[in-house]
Amino acid sequence: MNERPRRVSMADLDALCAARPPAAGPAPAYVGPLERHVRDGDRRLLHLEYDGSPAALRLWSFLLTEEDRLHAARAAGKTIVGAMKDLGTVPVMAYALPDVVAFYPDGAWWTPCIMELEAGLLRLADTLGIGDAFCPVRAMLGAFVNRRHFPIPDLLTCSAGATCDDFSAIAQRLESLGFPILWWEMPARRRPDPGETAVPLPTGFEAPASQVALVRSELERVRQALADAAGCDLTDARLASGLRRANRVRAVLDRLRHLAYTAEPCPIPALEMLIAEMLAIHFCSDQAEAEAVLADLLDEVRRRADAGKGVLQPRAVRVFWVNPVADLRAMNVLEDCGGRLCGTEFLFCHALDPIPQDLPPMEALARTALGDPMVGPATDRAERIVRDARRFGAEAVVVSRIPGASHCALEGAVIGEVVRRRLGLPVVEIEVPPVADAVLPTLRTRLEALVEAAEQRREP
Ligand code: SF4
Repeated sequence: MNERPRRVSMADLDALCAARPPAAGPAPAYVGPLERHVRDGDRRLLHLEYDGSPAALRLWSFLLTEEDRLHAARAAGKTIVGAMKDLGTVPVMAYALPDVVAFYPDGAWWTPCIMELEAGLLRLADTLGIGDAFCPVRAMLGAFVNRRHFPIPDLLTCSAGATCDDFSAIAQRLESLGFPILWWEMPARRRPDPGETAVPLPTGFEAPASQVALVRSELERVRQALADAAGCDLTDARLASGLRRANRVRAVLDRLRHLAYTAEPCPIPALEMLIAEMLAIHFCSDQAEAEAVLADLLDEVRRRADAGKGVLQPRAVRVFWVNPVADLRAMNVLEDCGGRLCGTEFLFCHALDPIPQDLPPMEALARTALGDPMVGPATDRAERIVRDARRFGAEAVVVSRIPGASHCALEGAVIGEVVRRRLGLPVVEIEVPPVADAVLPTLRTRLEALVEAAEQRREP
């Protein structure tokens, strides 16, 4: 199978799983055919195309068994932390404690896609007054209420302040339903005034030292709440060791991203890269295994790159993708239209960049949290996109709007304007609903037009 890497159907991936040679050694217990998840209602899996490798099967199996892991953690008496909104900081702190598992209930926003709306989470959110004027993360509300997905966490945290209106409203509604939340304040990041002490952030932005100090004091409250929930001090030594472990995962992902986005021909499909990047946020509820899953994928990609093999035709148009898609199928469609992924900004570059290890751990975490691209001006985010698009040699940029998302109303125009002015690249803005079948013809047309525009700019 390493001879001809290619995208395959779910049935083909499952057949590969069944044919796994004994020489490959025993797979982790959670690895198995994806068909079992379809039986549980994950019907979207039937309509996706996957990388045809054992590493991809492991990735998907790891992703799709997360709820089982969380329930097993509850049964084993572990402390479960539901971190909301900050995307990448609180789980690093939680995993620094023994017997604590952290996850983002926000991740339920993909359930309507994976279950093709059959789970009824959006309908449930509607009945609770959170309708489709809000982004699909409202599915989280339904998952808390029907209790059919993740276990209810022992501690819920949520960053507030400079978060989107959608999340604030949904989390406030959640609290009103009897789910207590530890709110912690995230200020709107601003550029330092002239003469004001400025602090560099890991994501490349700058912030006033006073704002970093505020975030640090807020995270101290989170630290105490985590320690209380776990019954164990969250010391600086534990935090420092937790940061090192998180950075190990980030380092493997960084190597994977670099190869996946630069090797020619494209060595791994866009869909698997989207899932791989998501693992960095909360490690899919098992930090050590997340590192192993990513390392396995990296080995596969490295073998292909060394052999000059890819999953797509050579010279596919290099597309930088902004925002995660509510329907995973959109990543397949990009490739069907002649594009390939060459970089991303999925709202959480602060969960990908290394956390500084030469600072006191709480200072390092505060700087990381404040580096969130979503808590500063859209122009900052656009500058980061320009930097990464240039680094990965993008030929075109897709800004994928999230239906109902408050930040999407204007930021696409800002990002598009900055990218066109600074890089001269073609940009398209699309909107991808949780089940995009009805708009797929339009999506294809727009992506094909983008690919054509990028090809026309190439040197003859
Ligand atoms: S509006 Fe955007 S940032 Fe806010 S919860 Fe939805 S996807 Fe996340």
